[in-house]
Amino acid sequence: MGRRRRRKEFRPPPRKLPKIYTCPSCGAQTLVVKIDKKNMYAILKCGTCGISWNTDMKPYEEKIDVYNRFVDVFMSGELT
Ligand SMILES: [Zn+2]
Repeated sequence: MGRRRRRKEFRPPPRKLPKIYTCPSCGAQTLVVKIDKKNMYAILKCGTCGISWNTDMKPYEEKIDVYNRFVDVFMSGELT
């Protein structure tokens, strides 16, 4: 029986990006980015200090991009 056993299809997952980010407000790693792809909308919320931010996102943006924008906005003091 020289038949090669077919390997189970295995697709490596895409490069893993962290799902939880560091909150620029309290420093805890509990900032979650939720994305509503249908509406191109992103919601960020920290589970520790409760800070939250939502924004429209561009089709090419990833969670990390939205997160970076959030940090920029936060650092510039434009966050209310
Ligand atoms: Zn926080």
